[in-house]
Amino acid sequence: METCAIVGINWGDEGKGRMVDLIAEDYDIIIRYQGGNNAGHTIKNSFGTFALNLLPSGIFRKEKMNVLGNGTVIDIRHLCGEIEKLCNAGIEISPENLMISSRAIIVMPYHVALDGLEEARLSDKPYGSTKRGIAPVYGDKYMKKGIMMGELFDRDYLSEHLKDILEYKNLQITGVYGGEPFTLEAMIEYLDTYGEILKPYIGETSNYLRNAAHEGKKILYEAQLGVLRDIDFGIYPYTSSSSPLAAYAPIGSGTPDIPVTRVIGIAKAYSTCVGEGPFTAEWFGEEAEKLRKAGGEYGAATGRPRRVGPLDLVATRYGTQMQGATEVALTKLDVLSYMDKIPVCVAYEVDGELTHDFPFPGKLGKAKPVYETLDGWGCDITSIRRFEDLPVNAQRYVEFVEAQIGCKISFVSVGPGREEIIIRN
Ligand code: GDP
Repeated sequence: METCAIVGINWGDEGKGRMVDLIAEDYDIIIRYQGGNNAGHTIKNSFGTFALNLLPSGIFRKEKMNVLGNGTVIDIRHLCGEIEKLCNAGIEISPENLMISSRAIIVMPYHVALDGLEEARLSDKPYGSTKRGIAPVYGDKYMKKGIMMGELFDRDYLSEHLKDILEYKNLQITGVYGGEPFTLEAMIEYLDTYGEILKPYIGETSNYLRNAAHEGKKILYEAQLGVLRDIDFGIYPYTSSSSPLAAYAPIGSGTPDIPVTRVIGIAKAYSTCVGEGPFTAEWFGEEAEKLRKAGGEYGAATGRPRRVGPLDLVATRYGTQMQGATEVALTKLDVLSYMDKIPVCVAYEVDGELTHDFPFPGKLGKAKPVYETLDGWGCDITSIRRFEDLPVNAQRYVEFVEAQIGCKISFVSVGPGREEIIIRN
């Protein structure tokens, strides 16, 4: 049985979406297994350029089934908007190619409100939340105060359940933050409005996927964000609230009994990070702005300028290991073409000691980058399709990274387009 996970090795925005878009051709079912609409995949294909926040990237191929697994959290209004936008662009979306797990938890308007209220309370020490309600909804999931998508089918049960939950949530909103309470009527109306649109897509994913796997269908898991935002192994507390690890993919999809056999880790040829938290190899000022512009590093979901810097091999090695990557795709190599000399961070210095291991989050703030410098190649490489046709220094860069992270780099992406990639055998 063939299953593959496409996962982020760094802080997210590695170009996972474009890799799923490319690889999806070989798979029958594409699954998002964690996260909500707090991040985005940008995909450029023959239909145009799209920022997908929730929908799996296989949605552009109408013969594929796309699944939002139980590990995801779903802002139903946002999802309806995303479906509508794609339909307007001529992409066909129906229950034939989209399925939503009945066990996925709904992001409610009060989660979004609570996210903003807490970020405001944190004031000058924010977590860098995208304020889409993701931390509050995952918090509620584990507090067992969440509402599952499947509850939309039972109005009486839903009303009763929501009434109990709302009592608790309003105590929090008004008592802790002095905010405005939410009414049961407004919340029911909200669920009715968007729930009605989404009901045809909601189903039980476990049996569907198990049967599909037995029929020989191939499954592709698509992560949102990278290892350094993983709730357990990332730069806590500046993480997301879920697990984008390949190891979590079967659980977040509804198939804990089906192992992942191929893990493609996506790493960018340089480092970027959206939001707060320690980011050791960060550039500032003019050189940062140059790299940001060259790479178009502005958040797909929020438009926020991303923090940028040279490739951090300490973090990338750690990310490769934590993902259990069986191969790596190195993206955006073309962006580095303007540099004469390319620094890469090969180690950290923490409290005067050199380390090649990724430190405990509490120590990261003290880490200083140790750089090595490689020669640039100084020409456009976007039209190159064979590794041996790359300038020698570009080949050396890829081979250097490969040796440092201890994993085969089987894809080198040299542009955003579907075809702009070098596949190495
Ligand atoms: P994701 O969340 O991991 O899918 O990453 P994003 O979509 O946020 O960011 C990736 C961005 O880089 C998108 O705008 C892609 O179109 C673009 N991109 C992906 N691969 C390449 C590449 O090899 N070269 C260039 N120049 N852009 C790329």
